Amino acid sequence: MVNNQSADEPPKDCDLCPRLVEFRNANIETYPEYFNGAVPPFGSHDAAFLVVGLAPGLQGANQTGRPFTGDYAGDLLYATLEKFGFSNGKYASSPDDGLELRQTAITNAVRCVPPQNKPIGAEIRTCRSFLANQIRSMNNLQAILCLGRISHESTVAALGLRQKDAPFSHGAKHKVPGAAFSLFDSYHCSRYNTNTRRLTVAMFEEVFAAISRDLEAHGFAPAPA
Ligand code: URA
Repeated sequence: MVNNQSADEPPKDCDLCPRLVEFRNANIETYPEYFNGAVPPFGSHDAAFLVVGLAPGLQGANQTGRPFTGDYAGDLLYATLEKFGFSNGKYASSPDDGLELRQTAITNAVRCVPPQNKPIGAEIRTCRSFLANQIRSMNNLQAILCLGRISHESTVAALGLRQKDAPFSHGAKHKVPGAAFSLFDSYHCSRYNTNTRRLTVAMFEEVFAAISRDLEAHGFAPAPA
């Protein structure tokens, strides 16, 4: 597995958010075999495309140590990445599945699993410096996909933009002044959103199609899988 662990990354036992540390310690008791730490990004700093999720799922990334790996949201995200040529190999819900991302990296607005999948404002703000570092480190970036409003708002803040200049809206593309990349929005690919049909597979794929077109225009065309 390729990841971006560096001095600009939180350590696995990051202690900046007391509530998340308390939850982690409880999870270490209940699930000692799980990863139970700040989940590092997956993919290379050289990637042209960055996907920003919300936070690790308890039974997903918090278990496996790779973003979106092991839960429903990951099934849809990785299937869609494969369909649009952003990965090589087969996703198999494990960091040992040999999957490689192509021109793509995946991270989360909050690196540690929050209770009930809901990070609080202070946690989102505290973890934002790591998101900002991640974006800053990606010199070839052409597109960021924010999954859900929290990811979007934290990314907008990390970029120093005003929320009112880049409001969250499914399917939106926002130009980032002074940057080579654009921000794209999608509803989060969570089980809840797909069960309620707030987000359908077709809607999710339309967002990826728009991103693919944008990347192609910049010469980063991923080959269809
Ligand atoms: N898994 C993640 O890593 N992030 C999410 O936002 C959801 C599931």
